[in-house]
Amino acid sequence: RSSQILGTVNSTSTATTRAFCSSTTPITATLFPGDGIGPEIAESVKKVFTTAGVPIDWEEHFVGTEIDPRTQSFLTWESLESVRRNKVGLKGPMATPIGKGHRSLNLTLRKELNLYANVRPCYSLPGYKTRYDDVNLITIRENTEGEYSGLEHQVVRGVVESLKIITRQASLRVAEYAFHYAKTHGRERVSAIHKANIMQKTDGLFLKCCREVAEKYPEITYEEVVIDNCCMMLVKNPALFDVLVMPNLYGDIISDLCAGLVGGLGLTPSCNIGEDGVALAEAVHGSAPDIAGKNLANPTALLLSGVMMLRHLKLNEQAEQIHRAIINTIAEGKYRTADLGGSSTTTDFTKAICDHL
Ligand code: NAD
Repeated sequence: RSSQILGTVNSTSTATTRAFCSSTTPITATLFPGDGIGPEIAESVKKVFTTAGVPIDWEEHFVGTEIDPRTQSFLTWESLESVRRNKVGLKGPMATPIGKGHRSLNLTLRKELNLYANVRPCYSLPGYKTRYDDVNLITIRENTEGEYSGLEHQVVRGVVESLKIITRQASLRVAEYAFHYAKTHGRERVSAIHKANIMQKTDGLFLKCCREVAEKYPEITYEEVVIDNCCMMLVKNPALFDVLVMPNLYGDIISDLCAGLVGGLGLTPSCNIGEDGVALAEAVHGSAPDIAGKNLANPTALLLSGVMMLRHLKLNEQAEQIHRAIINTIAEGKYRTADLGGSSTTTDFTKAICDHL
């Protein structure tokens, strides 16, 4: 089932019909190594992909040192243009200062590239024991609005206001993506996660849109779960869920909870889907400043994100080969990074994966 989980992430948009199918003509993809552990784990992806003979030419773009007025962030306009042109990319984590400073690089990417859905598969890795052995979830996070709309200001001294924006258009779009994903990936249930008992207007509208889309998919079971109850149910019995769709902030939080069910942030991939056929894969985790530059990071999450990208490109053979090598390396247990209880460096673990290819 795991290859099915990391299955195609194609947008429902017709723009995705770009021909990616040949496995011999090199495909150009944008690569953002990112901040913190980003460059170390991006190096790992490049090494594994090269060893596996993946026909990809990376177009590398680094976070700038000055704010680009065209993006209002440290992301350069040229790097955004690269993703628009290539329509596919892999992104390392990007740090955002807490409570002050520049516009988030992640928000800039999501807004500028209209990356409206973030797909986060989370499943138990065969051979890596956690409290659960049956986790098999897909979190689909609305990626462009909610509390992440960047509308915050001081009303008067000592009082600040942050606006949560929910629109019918964005809610229908992400709900449609979730149901379509469920239908095309053999999934049976979509759960809309909300707090509409309190956020009656915003989450209420989100639910209304989910219900509307659910009617078009009678073969998929639809349910609505309040977010606090959802957290409790996930921790008690993750097998209760299948595909979860939710507004932005809830998706951010729930997907880290899900990562914790299967072994942590070092293992969970994601892919951002844009309306115009763009797919930008990235790990769920951040830049991990506590271990950056120490050769300790687990590259699995970014590698599995790369596997999602390969499936999007229909490079299924290489995707499967790399996926199997990662699973087998972790299951064998000889080489594991510290977050998985081992003592391997990033480079030794990467080499072990290459040896399993
Ligand atoms: P984090 O995900 O960077 O780290 C949380 C914990 O998990 C740390 O202990 C870290 O060492 C560990 N961890 C994360 N990834 C790991 C990996 N691959 N291997 C081993 N251990 C790993 O979260 P944070 O510390 O809250 O955030 C750090 C920075 O990253 C912040 O600036 C935040 O804004 C940014 N961030 C970026 C993204 C993104 O680019 N998509 C996502 C989340 C956080």
